[in-house]
Amino acid sequence: MDCYIKVYGCQMNAADAHLVSRLLADGGIEEVEDSQHADAVVLLTCSVRRHAEDRAQGFARTMRGEGKKVIVAGCMGRLRGEELVKEGIADYVLGPDEYRKIPRILKDSEVSDTVEELETYSDLLPVDSGGVSASFAIMRGCNNYCTYCVVPFARGPERSVPYEALERQVKYLVDKGVKEVFLLGQNVLAYAHDDLRFADIVEKVSRIEGVERTGFLTSHPRDLDYEPVQRMADIPELLHFFHLPLQSASDKILGMMNRRYTISDYSERINWVRQTFPDAYLTTDILVGFPGETAEDFRMTLDALKRFDFDFAYMFAYSERPGTKAVRMASQEPKEERLRRLSEVIEVQTRITRRRAETWVGRNEDLFVTAPAPRRRGMLAEMKNHRSVILNHTARPGDFVQARLVGVKGWSVIAEPAVKEVV
Ligand code: SF4
Repeated sequence: MDCYIKVYGCQMNAADAHLVSRLLADGGIEEVEDSQHADAVVLLTCSVRRHAEDRAQGFARTMRGEGKKVIVAGCMGRLRGEELVKEGIADYVLGPDEYRKIPRILKDSEVSDTVEELETYSDLLPVDSGGVSASFAIMRGCNNYCTYCVVPFARGPERSVPYEALERQVKYLVDKGVKEVFLLGQNVLAYAHDDLRFADIVEKVSRIEGVERTGFLTSHPRDLDYEPVQRMADIPELLHFFHLPLQSASDKILGMMNRRYTISDYSERINWVRQTFPDAYLTTDILVGFPGETAEDFRMTLDALKRFDFDFAYMFAYSERPGTKAVRMASQEPKEERLRRLSEVIEVQTRITRRRAETWVGRNEDLFVTAPAPRRRGMLAEMKNHRSVILNHTARPGDFVQARLVGVKGWSVIAEPAVKEVV
């Protein structure tokens, strides 16, 4: 039995793919790189937007049409469940807490219908993908219930991985060459296990021998406090990278979204980050066309993009998700208007993103080399703040190279090795 894993959606699903790889390997099932050579396919799905569900459904139908066994796992498996089996889209559906059943399903063994709750998979060692950077889920689930989001329904309540388990996983991959560690969660700032909180975990992981860079993703702005930001400034390994999803800059819309911060709270947090880390790479999420968003609310968001000067933004038009509170709200914006607003924010942010990249040109930076650059000569590398760079030089993944930033191509900064001046 050869199995192919297809990932949709967020970084958590990408990290979950490594868990599934481990489960397949431990179960004696071969994982293949190409669906053409597979007898079975596991889809790790996303239900955050309709578009992601449609793509996964299309792929599942094609795979079933080719006679492969299809397991739809992850958020869509949990939320749509048996409906996908009845419609002929999947042979089996599993939620994000049921991946352990996959090897047994593939071997046609008896599998119970019981839905496992509060899984952390903390006993599993990750697979070694041969890279120098690896991600580790330190918490799963979400308690926030933003009114547009299905994640709390799909992934369940928050729960955190015990530090000892995390340390074992990190050390396992550091021994195999990983130098950069990303701590992942729906909201890493909510990490809580015994008396350890998020800043404790960042400190402890950064102190593990061999860890040279530590980053994290995603952070709910409401949970960012001043004191942990100051503590993190004393961690030399910390990447100066902060992803703080804003969503909207209208207090009325933020309230309707149940985000539980105001634009003034958000602004204060951005100031803490920028004052503490002047070189921070700051990114955000923006959701336009939420029910009741007026032209004035939308203008506030456009103004905020210009004011906060984000390095990058992930921008989306509101998409109705069944079961969420927002679906039942009055005055749903017409789809055309949502898309028009989306084009406008993309246009504004694209200019800002490019200008922010250009501000780095002319500086010298210590770059971390991550992988060969696809279709180009040179290597992919990252700055201390996680900004991606294309390095016109030969180097090995894991090397640190002193480089001069010489230009911008697309959204990437281009670098050449720094030449020492001879006096
Ligand atoms: S914080 Fe809000 S948007 Fe993020 S996963 Fe939780 S409910 Fe969804």
